[in-house]
Amino acid sequence: MEIKRNVLLNPGPATTTDSVKLAQVVPDICPREKEFGDLMGYCATEITKFVGDPTQYATVFFGGSGTATVEAILSSVVPQDGKILVIDNGAYGRRMCQITDIHKIDTLIFESSSIGPIDLDALERIMADEEGLTHLAMVHHETTTGLLNDIAAVGKLCHKYGIGFIVDSMSGFAAIPIDMAAMNIDYLAASSNKNIQGMAGIGFAICDKTALEETREIAPRTLYLNLYAQYAYFEKTHQTRFTPPVQTFYALKQAILETKEEGIGKRYERYGQSWETLLRGLDGLGLKYLIDKEHHSKIITAILEPDTENYDFNEMHDFFFEKGFTIYPGKVSNYGTFRISNIGQIDKRDIEAFLRVLEAYLIKIDYR
Ligand SMILES: *Cc1c(COP(=O)(O)O)cnc(C)c1O
Repeated sequence: MEIKRNVLLNPGPATTTDSVKLAQVVPDICPREKEFGDLMGYCATEITKFVGDPTQYATVFFGGSGTATVEAILSSVVPQDGKILVIDNGAYGRRMCQITDIHKIDTLIFESSSIGPIDLDALERIMADEEGLTHLAMVHHETTTGLLNDIAAVGKLCHKYGIGFIVDSMSGFAAIPIDMAAMNIDYLAASSNKNIQGMAGIGFAICDKTALEETREIAPRTLYLNLYAQYAYFEKTHQTRFTPPVQTFYALKQAILETKEEGIGKRYERYGQSWETLLRGLDGLGLKYLIDKEHHSKIITAILEPDTENYDFNEMHDFFFEKGFTIYPGKVSNYGTFRISNIGQIDKRDIEAFLRVLEAYLIKIDYR
C-alpha cells in the first residue's frame, strides 16, 4: 500500500514510518484478552527501560493526549496537605499551574524567563525557605520556545530538600537521553506521538514505584486519571481500567521497536543534524530565532517572524502545506514567532527541501 508522505514540522504528532502506520491494521481484538495485556505489558517495560530500571520504575498508561497524563500525575501524587512548586517558563509550565489550580492543590509558582536558563540559586532559596513543600514540577523541554531546562540540576535540589520531582518530558523523552535515577525523577510524563514516533492517543507516566506506592492512601481527585488506581489495576489484571486505544498500542509497539533499533542517542543525533541544517539555512536567509544555541533543545525552533507587513502566518502555512510541509504557529507572548520542529521520521534532506520553500516564500513577500 502506498501512503502519501507528509513532512510534519509541527511539534507532534510527528511524521511516522509506514511500518508504524501499518502496524495498526490488525484483526479486531478485545483489549481484555491476554494477548493484548501482553502487548501493553511489553510496551510498558520497554518504555521504562528507555529511562530506568523496570524493577524500580513502572510505566502507567492512559488513553488520552499528553496533557491527560500530566493531569493524572499532578492530581494523584500530591497529598491533601501537600504543597507543590511549579516552574513556569512557558505555556506548558503554565498549563501545570492551571491543572493544580483546578484540583485545588496548594501551589507556589516560580516564574522564570521564557528564553533563558532557570536561576538555580533563586530556586534553591525558595526550596530552602518555603515550609511544607512536598513536590516540584517542571517541563523538561519547553515546546513553545525550544528552551531546554536543566532537569538534572533541579533534580539534585529536589534530592537535597527531600522533595518529590515531577517532570513533563513530553517533547524530550525518546530523543534527549534521560536517566530517572541519576536525575532523581519520581514521575516523568510523555506520550505516544512525539519523539517516540508513534500515533496519538496514549499518554504514559513513568513512576518510581516506591514513590507511587506511597500515594495509595491519597483520596482520589479524579476517577479516570487516578495514577495509583490505574497502576494497581494493571499490575493485578494486565488490563487497563477503561477501554484503551487498541490500534494505537500496536503502532506504539512498532514505534518502540524502531526506537530501539535506531537508539535514542542516534535519534538525537539525527534530530541534531536536522536542527543544525535548519539554523544554517535561517542564518543564510537572515531570519533570527529565539533561544541561543547553548540552551536549545535542538528539537524545535521558535523563529522570529519576518519583519514586513507582507508576512501572514496563515498564508505562509498554506504555501507550505500545498507542498507537503506542515508548519506551526508560535505561542510565546511578547514575541511574534512561528515554529519549526525537526522530530519524527525526517532528516536533514527534508529540512533542506523546507528551506528552499521558505526562501521561495520570502521572495514572494519581497523579504529577500
Ligand atoms: C505536547 C506537549 C504536551 C501535551 O500536549 P497534548 O496536546 O495534550 O498532547 C505537554 N507538555 C509538553 C511540554 C508538550 O510538548
